Amino acid sequence: MPRRAVFLDLNGTLVMPVQVQSPTEHQPIPGSIEAVRLLNRAGFICPVVTIQSRIEKGLFSAQAFLDWFTLLQAQFQEQDAEIVGPYVCPHRRSTACTCRKPQPDLYWQAAAAWEIDCARSYVVGDTIDDIRAGKQIGAKACFVRTGWANFHLAETGHEADYIGDDIRAVAAWIVQNG
Ligand SMILES: [Mg+2]
Repeated sequence: MPRRAVFLDLNGTLVMPVQVQSPTEHQPIPGSIEAVRLLNRAGFICPVVTIQSRIEKGLFSAQAFLDWFTLLQAQFQEQDAEIVGPYVCPHRRSTACTCRKPQPDLYWQAAAAWEIDCARSYVVGDTIDDIRAGKQIGAKACFVRTGWANFHLAETGHEADYIGDDIRAVAAWIVQNG
């Protein structure tokens, strides 16, 4: 039986700040670990899908990002919360790649790896590209008012299936309505 997922954006959804010189500057947004634990317990797997264009820009390496992500996963795991991945687009917006949100490639990769039924799944993020990626894979799309949200709310409002103050609010909504 294919699994249900809540695909999570990283910068601005799970962690702050959104612009860093090194990934080690990121800290979890309050409530994000608790939100993932709630989703896990309701049966959702939580793949992280993220754009890290600072890799292509040379600000930090792909390996530095992966090393930091492993530490973040451990921090979540210590509190019984599991995030999987990461599924990373390392490219600038100007690069003609097929992995940058709102393109669906990274979501399909995660879905294949974890046997996920996207039509019964969710995408959560703080930008219009997260919401549109969710629509592309046939999932429900939830917008969080953290991170870059202020720049995207007007455009995103009518496209999202749900808008929550933060990932904790979105997780509660998914568990109740999903
Ligand atoms: Mg984001």
